[in-house]
Amino acid sequence: MNSVKEKAYAKINLYLDVTKKRDDGFHEIETVMHTVSLADEITVSAECVRSGGQVRLSVGGADFLPTDGRNLAVRAAQTFLARLGTSANVNIKLKKNIPVAAGLAGGSSDAAAVLRAMNRIFSRPFGEKVMLSMAAELGSDVPYCLIGKTALCTGRGEIMTRLNDLDGVCFVIVKVNAHVSTPVAYTALDGLYGDFKAPHGHAGSLDGLLESLKSGKLAVGEMYNVFESAVFPLVPESEKAKTRLLDLGADGAMMSGSGPTVFGVFSDEKTATAARAALEKEGYGAFLALSV
Ligand code: ATP
Repeated sequence: MNSVKEKAYAKINLYLDVTKKRDDGFHEIETVMHTVSLADEITVSAECVRSGGQVRLSVGGADFLPTDGRNLAVRAAQTFLARLGTSANVNIKLKKNIPVAAGLAGGSSDAAAVLRAMNRIFSRPFGEKVMLSMAAELGSDVPYCLIGKTALCTGRGEIMTRLNDLDGVCFVIVKVNAHVSTPVAYTALDGLYGDFKAPHGHAGSLDGLLESLKSGKLAVGEMYNVFESAVFPLVPESEKAKTRLLDLGADGAMMSGSGPTVFGVFSDEKTATAARAALEKEGYGAFLALSV
């Protein structure tokens, strides 16, 4: 049985705004995503069978995650096999290191990693275009997770423009002891902004951030996440963690995705390492991460 390993990297959002609520209820966003070294580990093996076949998943490192078709890793393997028109028994081993439902796109990244693994196992039958279309079927963040690095994502998140790599920064990612599902965060956001037709002035600008990224720099003052205004009141611990990151020497700090995870940007790895250790002592889940 062919077996391959893939890493499923977490993403953080250096900028995230909602620009419109569509008539079909979906939100249009503008976001700059960035891949960091915090990662789940995935091993996939597959054996073709004449008919039938099953996708089996075992998960380590996280309780309460489904192992059936509700798990995006399983759905990714099923989607791949359906598109290939092949039956196979597939075994997926997933070691979760990325906190779940935390705004780090762990599930989406697992799905993208399974698509990559399946494409390797079956000797790369699909090019980037088909891989991206399967990814888009699985979720709005999955196409980005397939490509990774730094990208501007618009629409529902699936329209991507690649940006330059970041130079000389590291991150401390802080997981607070609370879960906020993406739908709950969006409901809170709708409560604040309604149909998003009225402009909501805010600190940080996308143009400013993109300008700094052109030279591989990160203008921390231009970072922004609209979800902070909706999620901080629900999870005050998250805002406190952001303040602690700044106290501990971060050049800037921001919530990632729909939260409640926050991250700090450090230009000096020594300060970041000390900040991570201090936060862990204070009871947070804290991870040091580099750009990938
Ligand atoms: P995003 O930033 O894309 O909104 P998130 O980081 O907030 O995602 P995930 O960790 O992807 O959230 O989990 C969201 C939900 O997806 C979980 O509650 C979980 O039940 C479901 N899920 C399905 N497959 C997975 C997976 N492989 N890993 C984590 N969660 C998964």
